[in-house]
Amino acid sequence: MTEILPGVFLLDPANAELRHATNVIVLKDAKGGGYTLLDTGLPKGMVPRDMVAEVEQFCRSQKVGLSAIKRILITHLHLDHTGNLKVLAEKTGAKTFAHWLEASFIAKDPVYKGPGMLPQEPFSVSERLKDGDSVDAFEGLVVYHTPGHTPGHVAYYAPSRKILFTGDSLMVIDGKLQVSAAQYTFSQQMAALSARRLAGLDVESVVVYHGEPVLKGGREALKKAGAEAYGGKFES
Ligand SMILES: [Zn+2]
Repeated sequence: MTEILPGVFLLDPANAELRHATNVIVLKDAKGGGYTLLDTGLPKGMVPRDMVAEVEQFCRSQKVGLSAIKRILITHLHLDHTGNLKVLAEKTGAKTFAHWLEASFIAKDPVYKGPGMLPQEPFSVSERLKDGDSVDAFEGLVVYHTPGHTPGHVAYYAPSRKILFTGDSLMVIDGKLQVSAAQYTFSQQMAALSARRLAGLDVESVVVYHGEPVLKGGREALKKAGAEAYGGKFES
């Protein structure tokens, strides 16, 4: 576990043997002494490290019980993000959040027909989000609908800290921030537009789910990624 920024913890790469590291993120809430989990990792058995055990260990390190995890925010339906959602929701009693489109796919109502690994079992999140919603977590988060990687993908932005949590709308591959590869992406065109929109935010740090975080100069990196995703054809 690494605290990369005050109150932002990465549970160390959950599947570092895969090409891209996977970072389950825990945020310390400014109010109320609770914590918020951002995505949940692949299920036990698919990776050497059990993310549920990692979350338990994190809570022990903070000298709190599992019930201190008050919220689980999901960026999108893919299994490496939702793999432990059900078990962690049950163990923590946390509220669970996803965009309304994605919530339907996570509930397998209907089954998602797009690239990437699907959830193994249906789960019904308790809170269905839309673009622009505020979530009272960390130091205040704003929901940005970022369709492209999946239809109901969201990023979470902490304006007071200038931190953007991208989910898979952007990732860091070989040290470079970029939109996800076409084979995992529902629409590259929409992903590029979403990246361009995110590049309009006042961002210092970009915390991705796959790869190393960009701690400084986030907005410039976002602008570059957005432009490159669309063949350099637009300026952010
Ligand atoms: Zn994904």
